[in-house]
Amino acid sequence: MAKKILGYIQLVWTCDHCGTQNPGAIKSCTSCGAPQPPDVQFIKVDPETFDFIKDEALIRMAQSGPDKHCPYCGTRNLAEAQRCVQCGSDITIGAKVRESGGILEKPTASQTSAPPRKLSPVALILLLLGVALLCGLMFMFISNLTRTDQISAVVSGGSWQRSLQVLAYQQVSEQDWENAVPADAQIESCSMRYRYDSDTPRASATEVCGEPYTIDTGTGIGQVVQDCVYQVYENYCTYTSLAWVPVDTLVVSGQDLNPYWPSTALSETQRIGTQDERYTIYFSSGGDKYTYSTTNADLYMLAQPGSAWTLEVNKYGSVTSAEPAQ
Ligand SMILES: [Zn+2]
Ligand SMILES: [Zn+2]
Repeated sequence: MAKKILGYIQLVWTCDHCGTQNPGAIKSCTSCGAPQPPDVQFIKVDPETFDFIKDEALIRMAQSGPDKHCPYCGTRNLAEAQRCVQCGSDITIGAKVRESGGILEKPTASQTSAPPRKLSPVALILLLLGVALLCGLMFMFISNLTRTDQISAVVSGGSWQRSLQVLAYQQVSEQDWENAVPADAQIESCSMRYRYDSDTPRASATEVCGEPYTIDTGTGIGQVVQDCVYQVYENYCTYTSLAWVPVDTLVVSGQDLNPYWPSTALSETQRIGTQDERYTIYFSSGGDKYTYSTTNADLYMLAQPGSAWTLEVNKYGSVTSAEPAQ
């Protein structure tokens, strides 16, 4: 977020001897003459409005840095002062620099994000227990998956399916940000659309600012600022270009041991895309039924009905591997 300076306003401080409110830039009480104590707080005159200072000299003073207090007599001096205005001592070393940078009134919710919510200790313990439990369950699940029993089974059947994707080279309509449109594409239309927030002003950006608030400059003068972001808009376009797109999927399937690929008659602007093959072998073993799925065609073609196989079966009854018995 960018800080935008709107201007400078007079602050006030309250004399702790007589209670008089004094203008921020005045360094001794206008009523009793007491020097301003180093720890006095500057406050806004009117919490609701901003009465901006026109005096250039005062603004320069506010910009030159926080005031400092003489280490010998306590008198408040300007940041650039070398000798105390009150006692004349050298104050280039040892002077106490006033605090600065504090926010004098709370900015409204619109410009400050909510503070991160802290977890209570109970919630934290529950969370840790939950994570530990989850880890335990995961471990059990994985060990059950990997721990297998070897059983003998007989092939009762099988099925296979093979598919081919047919791609065609043709015009497609797509959308993207203008700077991502391929060079050989034909742009149909574009419109401005919000893309991201920037901290710095940019062309084609909309400035969005929060409520103004006041920062203590340490000089008795407040700097009024706004936090702003710049919502950048860019061209979002519809374009057409040539691309390989799926137009058809050819599928053949069967229950025998002779899988084959779908036959294709491709034109010049067509080609084969992804190929997929899957095989399922059905087994029975002492009344229990098992299925094993694989993409290994060579293995599938060995699955003669009635042949004896050795299966690895995990705790959940799934077959993790299968091969003909030796
Ligand atoms: Zn006073
Ligand atoms: Zn002094």
